[in-house]
Amino acid sequence: MGAEQPDAPASLFIRDGRIATLGASRGAEVEVDAQGCTVVPGFVDAHTHLPYLAPAPGLERKADWVLPCASALAVSDDDAVVTYSERLAAGMLAGGTTSFETKSGLGLSVDGELRHLRMAQALASRVPQCVTVTCLAAHAVPPGKSQGEWVGEAATALLPQVARAGLASACDIHIELFSFALEHAARLAVASDALGLRMRVHADRFADNQTAAFAARWGFAAADHLNHTSLDAIDDLASSDTVAVLLPASTLAIGQSRQPSARALIEAGAVVALGSDAGPVVGAPGMARVLELACGTLGLHPVEALAAATVNASCALGLDGRVGRLEPGGRADAVILGAPDFGGPDIPPVVAVVCGGRLAYVAPGAEDRILRR
Ligand SMILES: [Zn+2]
Repeated sequence: MGAEQPDAPASLFIRDGRIATLGASRGAEVEVDAQGCTVVPGFVDAHTHLPYLAPAPGLERKADWVLPCASALAVSDDDAVVTYSERLAAGMLAGGTTSFETKSGLGLSVDGELRHLRMAQALASRVPQCVTVTCLAAHAVPPGKSQGEWVGEAATALLPQVARAGLASACDIHIELFSFALEHAARLAVASDALGLRMRVHADRFADNQTAAFAARWGFAAADHLNHTSLDAIDDLASSDTVAVLLPASTLAIGQSRQPSARALIEAGAVVALGSDAGPVVGAPGMARVLELACGTLGLHPVEALAAATVNASCALGLDGRVGRLEPGGRADAVILGAPDFGGPDIPPVVAVVCGGRLAYVAPGAEDRILRR
């Protein structure tokens, strides 16, 4: 999927949180003068680990953050976790993120996961962004249990409660030598399919374990990370609807040298999306920073990065048609970038952000672009 760049001067008119018209210039209560700027759809972050609390000292650059953070979450006050994450979401908004995914995965028991999902739902109700919630049912193996024991419990006890209560729209699993294997993904996929939950997976991050190929063949909604995905698996992704979600801020945060084959994915015709992997190790970068990294470290052209962070990311989250495009009737999410086009090698800076029809952020120094009646 590509990004179209209208090149004529135009207006975007918003009413009741929706895009009302494109192209016509008309009076409004609040006007943003975007002369010399580019207006693009609000950015969609296809992969975060919100909600969480500030990391324990020393966690930075560690890939195995799950158990220490799960222990911290277990003794934390729910409201403190949601309030901390709300502040992170406000920072992400300043970086153009108007929609994002949240995940559980730090509960490590049926009750713990349900609690983590309820925190995610509370966060969704308190931030201006459009938020989706994923049950990361298999993140780390709970202490004292085998992989199979926990995945069986997740499939038969956790996911049915999640679906019944409408706590999440997707199920996720972490496939690595130190966590779970493909047979566990199959178990959760069968359960999720019966419950109407979309399936996604943390895939091939530290080794090529054929997870992306498996995800494509099983019709998963998304396969994320992909640092070690082989060329054969790229063909599998390209011939499927599975979205390849790349997380350059995560690769950078843990100092991983192996980058995903972004150019091969795009040339093969895979749907490539971007996410921040916001979490205890990465922090919570806004998507403007992730777009910069996608251009700088993955070799995406700015227009490719824009498509990956808008319409393609909305497909990964099941939000296509609702966010990620500037279309009449759609949710009014827009980012105003401080350059007249995307022709250069860099992502222009964020000047202002409209989220759900409201002017949600104005960059320092850009206040005189805002006209109120
Ligand atoms: Zn993740």
